[in-house]
Amino acid sequence: MKNLENIVEDTAVELLKRAANILQNDYVAALSEARQKTRGEIGRSELSNILKNIELAKETSQPICQDTGVVAFMLKLGDNFPIRSKLRKILENATRKATNEIPLRPNAVDLFRGNTKDNVGRHVPLIYIELVEGDDLEITALPKGGGSSNVAAHSMVTPGLGWKGIKQFVLESTARAGSLGCPPYFLGVGVGGGEDYCMFLAKKALLKPFGVRNEDPKVAKIEEELLEKINSLGIGVMGLGEGPTALDLHIEIAARHPASLPVGVVFSCWAFRHAKGRVSKEGKVVFEYA
Ligand code: SF4
Repeated sequence: MKNLENIVEDTAVELLKRAANILQNDYVAALSEARQKTRGEIGRSELSNILKNIELAKETSQPICQDTGVVAFMLKLGDNFPIRSKLRKILENATRKATNEIPLRPNAVDLFRGNTKDNVGRHVPLIYIELVEGDDLEITALPKGGGSSNVAAHSMVTPGLGWKGIKQFVLESTARAGSLGCPPYFLGVGVGGGEDYCMFLAKKALLKPFGVRNEDPKVAKIEEELLEKINSLGIGVMGLGEGPTALDLHIEIAARHPASLPVGVVFSCWAFRHAKGRVSKEGKVVFEYA
């Protein structure tokens, strides 16, 4: 019989497999709707290629993109979940196993020794832990490709500019990203907290459910405004000038220092790969995505 450590490891491997090979239904539906709405032939045919790619990856159990990303796990760790300090080791083992079995492209490069060949390195897989009430461990696997990570942006906006400055920075960052991160994009924007925390908030924002607006109506309105303005930049599908530039955008906010207004912008390419599952302290596993 498997012990809890093996169950967590196997769950993480399965999540990486689902994330790498299957795009969630909501995102596929959004790409499909975008194809219907796109007027230009070039944009429409590129969206058809993307959708065919997604279909083939699912059918043949192969990664959606050759860049299977740097492996990251976002964890919600319940008060009573018994495994804590061993989680890093378990998730490293899961990453090695997934690299072999799926397979994933080796993407962890040691600055002195080169590619580690198994996607495990110093601080990699990236692990973010949020402490929550309850008995479960929730794991979200988020392998993120280099192209869209490279266009992430950060700024300490002049506080006096407020939301005007924040919006301007998000729009400028998207214009600068152009086609480099394989649009249509999904964006996460983090505002406040601190110079590092706003980037974490942006990543958290990225993972909010597709199409669901912020619980604060004022923030929700800004999300809609930004999405509209980004889509009038004309970057389009894969930078071809036709079809949508972004399909969704979420904002997460935190309080800030009176003299600082940190803003982080994180992009996902159209291949927004992530999968979520939950392990109870008794070892019951429930997959929430795909
Ligand atoms: S940005 Fe995304 S779709 Fe483009 S190469 Fe990287 S992982 Fe693949």
